[in-house]
Amino acid sequence: MIDVGGKRARPSAAVDTISAIPALEDNYIWAFTQGAQAVVVDPGEAAPVLAWLQGGGLRLHDILLTHHHPDHIGGVASLVTATGARVWGHGADRHRLPALDVALGEGDHARPLGFDFTVMATPGHTLGHICYAGHGRLFCGDTLFSAGCGRMFEGNPAQYQHSLARLAALPDDTAVHCAHEYTLSNLAFACSLEPDHAGLAEALASTRRRRAEGQITLPSRLGWEKRHNPFLRCAEPALARAVGLPEAGPAAVFGALRAGKDRYRGR
Ligand code: ZN
Ligand code: FE
Repeated sequence: MIDVGGKRARPSAAVDTISAIPALEDNYIWAFTQGAQAVVVDPGEAAPVLAWLQGGGLRLHDILLTHHHPDHIGGVASLVTATGARVWGHGADRHRLPALDVALGEGDHARPLGFDFTVMATPGHTLGHICYAGHGRLFCGDTLFSAGCGRMFEGNPAQYQHSLARLAALPDDTAVHCAHEYTLSNLAFACSLEPDHAGLAEALASTRRRRAEGQITLPSRLGWEKRHNPFLRCAEPALARAVGLPEAGPAAVFGALRAGKDRYRGR
């Protein structure tokens, strides 16, 4: 049971349960319920979602999409056929999102079931990527990972860094629900950049243990990400020095960090 916290002018529903349904190689399909109704985020495959619904005696009411990549939308068509669920996603990407019912944009509210999420346009990984913030949670798809961020397929460094800075302005206790289990390799890269960062070294060791036991590393907390995730710290002199650009601004530091991670092969 999760408390959404804070007093609101308008009463809003609480999330009863939230689950990470493992899918494909390393995706998580986040799934939450209110009573016997469910919402899923980025169903890259249908089968594990249908099994989860059946196991819990649940009905799928809504599907939230963050972006158009196949590992996030691959299950949508089958799920809509099987359940009649309503599909929410970025209107600008409607030509490449299957079965879109509700077209969203920056600042809109997505209201699946009785919930209320603010839509944040976060170009960078893709140009049409959106995140859903609300109820103390952030569903950030491939924009933000724990200790890392997504590959920059469509955006540019200034855009992506700006998107991440906007996410970082959310409250520190926000639970960060990323779409992939990439924490370990992200931490290895972060530690290679800042070998003297004690918090990162500690996180790498504990994450190695958790992953060896097959445990999930998510959701993380945004406050932790702001202190540890190099991609959220592009304005810090330590990061500018770590990428060899001591005089550079946050966008250039981000670009260098992203390029460094793309080349990184350690673990
Ligand atoms: Zn993606
Ligand atoms: Fe993905």
